[in-house]
Amino acid sequence: MAAEISRFESALSAAEKGLLALREDVARRIGQSEADIFTAQALVVRDNDLRTQVMSKIQQNLVNVEAALVDVIEKFTRAFEQVPDAYLRERASDIRDVGRRILAALAADDGTSALHIPDGSILVADELLPSATARFELSQVKALITERGGKFSHTSILARSMRIPALTGVQGARSKIQTGDKLIVDGMSGVLFVNPDKQIRREYERLEAELTGYRAGLQKGIDLPSVTLDGTVVPLLANASKVSDTEAAHLYRADGIGLYRTEFAFSIRSAFPTEEEQYQLLKCAAERMHPRKIVLRLLDMGGDKQLPYFPLPASRNPSLAQRGIRLLLKNQEVLKTQLRAFLRVSADHPVWVLLPVVGGLDEVRAVRAVLAQVMAEFTAQGIAFDPHVPVGAMIEIPAAATLTSVLAKEVDFFSLGTNDLVQYLLAADREDDSVADYYQPLHPSVLRTIRFVADAANGAGRPLTICGEMAGDPAYTELLLGLGLRAFSVAPGEMLEVKNAIRMATIPAAEALAKAALQLGSTSEITALLEQWRAAKSAS
Ligand code: PEP
Ligand code: MG
Repeated sequence: MAAEISRFESALSAAEKGLLALREDVARRIGQSEADIFTAQALVVRDNDLRTQVMSKIQQNLVNVEAALVDVIEKFTRAFEQVPDAYLRERASDIRDVGRRILAALAADDGTSALHIPDGSILVADELLPSATARFELSQVKALITERGGKFSHTSILARSMRIPALTGVQGARSKIQTGDKLIVDGMSGVLFVNPDKQIRREYERLEAELTGYRAGLQKGIDLPSVTLDGTVVPLLANASKVSDTEAAHLYRADGIGLYRTEFAFSIRSAFPTEEEQYQLLKCAAERMHPRKIVLRLLDMGGDKQLPYFPLPASRNPSLAQRGIRLLLKNQEVLKTQLRAFLRVSADHPVWVLLPVVGGLDEVRAVRAVLAQVMAEFTAQGIAFDPHVPVGAMIEIPAAATLTSVLAKEVDFFSLGTNDLVQYLLAADREDDSVADYYQPLHPSVLRTIRFVADAANGAGRPLTICGEMAGDPAYTELLLGLGLRAFSVAPGEMLEVKNAIRMATIPAAEALAKAALQLGSTSEITALLEQWRAAKSAS
């Protein structure tokens, strides 16, 4: 709240300064009486009533300054519009103008300062882009509700990594929910209650207590190894997108960082971070995980992930346009800077370099050529790095999946990105709620592709880790083991549940489940099989 009030104060000063400058300019170019309009407007900016009403709205309604200001200006102009005196009625437009000016001053802040959110709030928005989400103090947020986006959108991934219940694709949420409403957000079954009655509240209080107890039980297993009942060790790594995630990963005893999404640090800035800035951040993360490895993924921009300072050509279909490694190869300076930062970290810590959205060998070779160039420069400059830094490919485009054994000859490891793989295999945009029904991780084609990739990677002796959201859902763990996956990278908050599922599985039983699933031809049959399997297991 204090942060919102200080934003308001700065915006008032900026608006007043702007008006006074305008007054001088108009007086000089047009005339004194015209300039006086702006003297009057400057007085409105400094009006005590306006100030106190906005502040009390921020404090009482727990809204941001923009929302409070719009409400108060609306109230002021309505009052002026109703007075009989024509001259005074005209003043309503001045007040609206002043409101716009203060809003512009608020919007002109550089977009990097943190936005305060009152503790325990539930955020309701049209869409939360990572750059905006990063500006909130998310630790204060109890839940997120957005009108756009799906379960596999980046907002959902970010929310999951922070263990915040999130509902996406809730149409009309902003008009149906008012500030001050009491909400229950059931992120597990995807249900939202607005001002629920006592019975529902009680039921959810009971559920919450049960969940807390269940989590406390899991917590007891924090030091247990990630190994199946029949003794197969399954490395369990963490997905991270910021340095603080490595702290959580460390807390949950992650075997390393299986996927570090570097985009996040880019999306919260107003310009490209320098090599030194990138190095400092990644070094902190790698230090925290040392001696365990950290898989640093090169910038995956494009598609739905955009940077305000890096405009991409408009595309009819951004997911099928320039993104990931394609985009980096077209912007070699960005690629080189990032590789330099990665390599510098590799001097002291086990760093693996991961290429996003790989389509084929040409891209791998092109990146390797740039890497070799950077390494040669480092050698000439006497900068330390690991010359054997492993280079891997994300398998997330079907073309790359079919080429796994070919790619295996030129990469050191693979990471299976099911979030994109599912969207590209099934032609269902992961961010588009209208096709969410078609985005089916249990589709027979997805399972067959996973099996094919696992066989090819295992056959070639290349480590393969699954890092898409499927990996973090304990309902899929046994099936994924049966399909041949032997390393999982999941959000830190999901590690204990997934480890629990690994510890309850045996490889022969998991293989029997996968074999049965692969014989089925539809998502609904596979879903039913998994449910039967789970029911039989919990009954035994
Ligand atoms: C994936 O596509 O599965 C993945 C892990 O990458 P991202 O979600 O960042 O696209
Ligand atoms: Mg991806």
